[in-house]
Amino acid sequence: MMKHMPDFVVPVYILERLAQNDVDAARASLSKLRLIHRQRNLLDFDLISTAIGEGGSERHVYDCGHNTRLRVQEARKEGDRSGSDEAVNQAYDFAGIVRDYFKEVLNRNSIDNRGLDLLLNVHYGRNFLNAFWNGEEMVFGDGDGKIFIGFTSSLDVIGHELTHGVTQYTSGLEYEGQSGAINEHLSDVFGTVIKQHHLKQTASEADWLIGADIMGPSLKGQALRSMKAPGTAFDNKLMGKDMQPDHMKNYYSGSDDNYGVHINSGILNKAFYLVSMEIGTDKAAAVWYQGMQKLYATADFSAFFHTIQQAAQSLADKGEVPETAPKSVESAFQAVGISQ
Ligand SMILES: [Zn+2]
Repeated sequence: MMKHMPDFVVPVYILERLAQNDVDAARASLSKLRLIHRQRNLLDFDLISTAIGEGGSERHVYDCGHNTRLRVQEARKEGDRSGSDEAVNQAYDFAGIVRDYFKEVLNRNSIDNRGLDLLLNVHYGRNFLNAFWNGEEMVFGDGDGKIFIGFTSSLDVIGHELTHGVTQYTSGLEYEGQSGAINEHLSDVFGTVIKQHHLKQTASEADWLIGADIMGPSLKGQALRSMKAPGTAFDNKLMGKDMQPDHMKNYYSGSDDNYGVHINSGILNKAFYLVSMEIGTDKAAAVWYQGMQKLYATADFSAFFHTIQQAAQSLADKGEVPETAPKSVESAFQAVGISQ
């Protein structure tokens, strides 16, 4: 079991289904993932965290030139004008939107709250079907143009990945089982929250989909996950059927996907959606952000419920969220079958 597996936006089990259905790019991407695991296991996370001082939360976008080495050629840095490379511009713009949301709405100074620079590598590999946060920086493939298009095309994907960085610097939730599903859930939460904020959408206007913008022509109209209706994001010959549950009674207890990190996150996603529909997405995000800073690395769903409820109570006491927020949190978690 690889605890420090990078947080790929397309789960390995979905790539395996694509590979079984003769998608060449999926086979090639899977073999790259093995290499990325090995590189990642060489990183010393404590060293990384302590080596970084106060920064200016500047963006640096690097062009991998279809190779797999990172930080090779800087294509655009903070303040540079946009150029002709769409992936470079998208990574720069979307990472800026994510950084500014954390700063302006949640008062968090970049991923580490100390102004960590955002390192973004685009054009990773050839037809690489994924994007990931490797513990230090972001990496984006271009997709194969059929199943997935460029992974920089989606604000919720970039928000999702950078939030893995925030989780790493706050609770450090272990990436397997229930703590891993909470980790995945938090990334989906801020992915969708930032997108809704940017598009000025209310909870009822938003589509609550993750990854809809990276689906290629073969999978048009589908997405990786639906937070509103987990289990309905995709159903096609290549990927099979979305297996996310929306209630504990359908909890996935198998060993795939690091014991279901991208699967059981559906249960929590549904709870977040229900709370947002009652108190508004931004207020729900404030509660979740407060809770996320109080969690610990091995928290399970029941501990998560407890932490979120305490956060809701404390923010309601301060008048920052509606008085009804703790009650909304309680009914949402009960609705998906989680008790304290
Ligand atoms: Zn993830």
